[in-house]
Amino acid sequence: MMSKLNNPRSTLHALEPMGRGTPEVESLTSYFCRLAYSHGMTAQKLADWVLDHFEQSVCEKYGWHQRSFSSMSPESEQWAAWLAELTGVASLDRHTLAPWRSVLGVPGLAPKSDRWCPCCLAEDKASNAEPYLRLTWDVAPVTACLRHKVQLVATCPHCHRSNVRSRSAVVVPGYSTSCGGFLGDAKTEPASPEALWVARQVGQMLQEPPKVASTGLVPLLETVIERMADGRPSTFASRYGFSKSGISHWLNKGGIPALKAWLTIALHGRIGLDKLFAGDVEGWEPPLVPVQMPIELPESPRAGIKSRELDWDAIRAQLRAMLEEPQPVSVNEASERVGVDRKSLYLQANAEARAIADRYLRHRAARGEQRQTRLQSQIGEVLDERLAAGYEGMSARDIWSRLYTEAQSVPGIFRHITAVMDSRR
Ligand SMILES: [Zn+2]
Ligand SMILES: [Zn+2]
Repeated sequence: MMSKLNNPRSTLHALEPMGRGTPEVESLTSYFCRLAYSHGMTAQKLADWVLDHFEQSVCEKYGWHQRSFSSMSPESEQWAAWLAELTGVASLDRHTLAPWRSVLGVPGLAPKSDRWCPCCLAEDKASNAEPYLRLTWDVAPVTACLRHKVQLVATCPHCHRSNVRSRSAVVVPGYSTSCGGFLGDAKTEPASPEALWVARQVGQMLQEPPKVASTGLVPLLETVIERMADGRPSTFASRYGFSKSGISHWLNKGGIPALKAWLTIALHGRIGLDKLFAGDVEGWEPPLVPVQMPIELPESPRAGIKSRELDWDAIRAQLRAMLEEPQPVSVNEASERVGVDRKSLYLQANAEARAIADRYLRHRAARGEQRQTRLQSQIGEVLDERLAAGYEGMSARDIWSRLYTEAQSVPGIFRHITAVMDSRR
């Protein structure tokens, strides 16, 4: 086999990786499978051969796909280096998450099962290109394809199994490892604006490896806290929903924020992950009125400045951008953020203002319903627990005293308790 692999330029084919420098960069898992395929080998055989070539001991029972090829682990980095050496293709680590190891925490990063965008695979196939797997599909918080605005899927449309994308000795990217069916045939649903926002952030992040080294992480976080909470870690924590000990861990003990935390910073600070990780924060100004503030802020300094002439095209564009934000905003907030009163918004940007109002109302209604259902089931639980313990003839006050503090302060809580108690009689 060794001789078969030899060619004058490199030991293995100098296969071109897909999508480098774009949000659709190929994963190393995918590259590895295509490389094996181009040599007429199974992925398992190629993995064994590479390990043997570098004199690594091979455990027969260890499937190649149990190894980590695209993650942040040192193992992924090692495989990227080995394959770069054998193919002569440089920087294959850019097809793994390893370059982000110094800026991204591990928790919540790896998906529970393998996902893909069927539209991407179908498009690859239709254009006579080799279907390939995108690195962004291996980042758990990403649940949508930005290009096709659809949700990622995780189940084969033909055999209805999951984890059929790349976990087998033989893998042809784009085809089910279980039944051989084309994974691009899967049906999918439109993605939410929230999911698309996350997909865009992560896609931009994957275009370029971070420039902030691990030594630069604390200064970067200090800048974030400086700009977003006047340098006060406790304000920053409570304002954006972090724990104080978590922040202290980042600043003092080498802790690394998880991707979800960075996304929160990106959202509220209105700065791209790509910019944050490039350390490009020189001219960054977070919004004066933060998204979804839990506490009242004094009037923003901008509010007093009377605008000369309003650029309505720009304002409408800002409003449309707000419609894409994960968290729906109210017309009041939108009006504050663009510095224009509500009436003018409805006059000059009617469609946008109505879309914002409508989205916010639907969001509030959904949230209210959820809260009410949760509250009722909680009251029901307390009631059941007390009855099970042999109590009878309880008053609404008894039930109330056993609820969580948060539930106790819900407006009209006694009405809710009585309603649940009545429904049980
Ligand atoms: Zn797609
Ligand atoms: Zn299948």
